[in-house]
Amino acid sequence: MGRVNIYMLDTDIAENSPHDRNITSTLYGGDQETRISQEIILGIGGIRALDTLGIKASVYHLNEGHSAFCTLEIIRKLIQNDGLSFSDAREVVAASTVFTTHTPVPAGSDRFPLYLMDKYFSYLWPSLGIDRNTFMEMGLDAPSDSPDVFNMTIFALKTAGQRNGVSKLHGMVSRNIFNSIWRGIPEEEVPIGSVTNGIHSTTWLNPAFKNLFDKYLGENWVNNIPDTKMWNNINNIPDEELWNAHMENKQKMIEFVRHRLKKQMIRNGEAPEAIENIDKILDVNALTIGFARRFATYKRANLIFRNLARLQRMLNKPATPVQIIFAGKAHPADHPGHELIKQIYDLSHQEGLKGKIFIIENYDMKLAHHLIAGVDVWLNNPRRPLEASGTSGQKAALNGVINFSVLDGWWVEGYNGENGWAISDENYYINTEQQDNVDAQSLYATLEEEIIPLYYQRNPKDLPVNWIKKMKESIKTCAPAFSTARMVQEYTKDYYLTAMRRNEEIMQNHYKLAHELSQWKTQILNEWHQIKIIPDRKLNHFSDQKIIAGHPLELNTTVYLGNINPTSVRVEVYYGKIGQDGLIEEPQIALMELQGENGNSSYRYKGTIHLESGGEYGYTFRVLPYHSELLNEYDLGLVKWVDEGNYNVQ
Ligand SMILES: *Cc1c(COP(=O)(O)O)cnc(C)c1O
Repeated sequence: MGRVNIYMLDTDIAENSPHDRNITSTLYGGDQETRISQEIILGIGGIRALDTLGIKASVYHLNEGHSAFCTLEIIRKLIQNDGLSFSDAREVVAASTVFTTHTPVPAGSDRFPLYLMDKYFSYLWPSLGIDRNTFMEMGLDAPSDSPDVFNMTIFALKTAGQRNGVSKLHGMVSRNIFNSIWRGIPEEEVPIGSVTNGIHSTTWLNPAFKNLFDKYLGENWVNNIPDTKMWNNINNIPDEELWNAHMENKQKMIEFVRHRLKKQMIRNGEAPEAIENIDKILDVNALTIGFARRFATYKRANLIFRNLARLQRMLNKPATPVQIIFAGKAHPADHPGHELIKQIYDLSHQEGLKGKIFIIENYDMKLAHHLIAGVDVWLNNPRRPLEASGTSGQKAALNGVINFSVLDGWWVEGYNGENGWAISDENYYINTEQQDNVDAQSLYATLEEEIIPLYYQRNPKDLPVNWIKKMKESIKTCAPAFSTARMVQEYTKDYYLTAMRRNEEIMQNHYKLAHELSQWKTQILNEWHQIKIIPDRKLNHFSDQKIIAGHPLELNTTVYLGNINPTSVRVEVYYGKIGQDGLIEEPQIALMELQGENGNSSYRYKGTIHLESGGEYGYTFRVLPYHSELLNEYDLGLVKWVDEGNYNVQ
């Protein structure tokens, strides 16, 4: 098993001024000025720390924008030590930097007012050889942002050469949110990919299950976690052994929860009788649902309380009792989060819910270990699509706890119809009230009609055999896919290796490639406006171009390139079925071939498209910059369409 070193930066050392000693004292406590200071320590200080330690990195992986100032320090060093220009240095940094965005809401980004940026960075501009505008432009997005903030996510997206979100759905959402950085590029082509998060399996696996895995998957299973075939051996675990291990975990969890609750009740000054009674609460034989996470409002901890009467009926059926354990933590400044905790606390004391609903404050990893292994069902009902990935459900699945979740984050990929349950479908709602209603309905119906009956359906040995089947299906399918083992392999293969190779190439011959690329980009950016596409047949609107399917279709256009060399562009047919809104759906792209020059810098191109099925198609032409060494052709933010006025990528 690999190990990595982790270095923590701390300003609380004797040599520092009292003010500076405080910078790293609290994570989220301070104001904007504390925050920018912390990020300067992390980013710029981080690079200096690596230098001091003699660590030469070839890949920098920034998680969220917090550390993104590190790119400025790398650029500064390249300029001052190696004599590069600012734009050459940016090429070098892009080559070696991977940026991962983790939140699907614009509000998740750090934003600094420009006066703070002036205060902390104006000293740097002369040494970078740039003016204030060039500097600020790197962190300005615009449409959704006020123009006087420097957005760290935008800065990181513009500076890194490779970018990704943390699940397939989050990748899609990010391409939508950040489309404005790549204006004119259709949303689905925005260069943000995705690597779905995973959990560190051996950290999160309970000991009873570890014994079972050792026995039935073979001792070496820990080294083959991403191997999906190996996990089929989960089927060899006898039902009774798996169930006994689960019940052992459930009993331990109940004891731990009682212990925590007791401490909490004493802290809250509750009646001594209630505290004494604690050893009688929580029934190991009752279906137990767990809900534990930060109480950010989008996670809707109170969704299950939307119809109190229905919930009460469901929990209190004598033959099929149900209990729910909540555990939560809210960011100190998150008042709605604290309100939610209080609301559920009050509900847990209400007649009809008392003894059925429990809430434990101060959710931490120790409690998480018990809950993700000891409840029966793991409930997750965020307001889709706001859960970028989520990982607690992955922990639960590994431990035989079955997921019941909104099809958001990782669960859209994880859910296969057999390995758990879905709340609602993959629809989007503009009205959150309506969304909450639909999701609550689905939540109650699935609990009443599927989950509760399945749990209480027992064989003569009192084993819930069909439940156990689902547990096995859940472990088998989720454990290999949603592990850090798979995740790190994917980052290595799809991102780090690209960055490492790229970094090596770009440094050769005193950064020859960096210089060549930045020169080329400058020229293309300056000349791009000259390009004009003149189709042989006039394209007025997309919907006018109806094509009958069935045979290869040849399309021709003339492109005026001005001072740009044809080797510096790619001309493409962009085509697909026409949707109801008259626009192209699920577009496909075909490269066009240069046929010859007409003189006057205008060139003839031919493309052939193959349409497999019938229907109404539309097409258009476009030109993109091309350079064989370009990491990403969209990064110049340049694309020329035939009919820019009419073309609407929405
Ligand atoms: C796993 C974990 C989380 C993350 O939970 P999500 O449901 O993925 O948001 C938060 N806190 C603790 C203590 C955890 O163990």
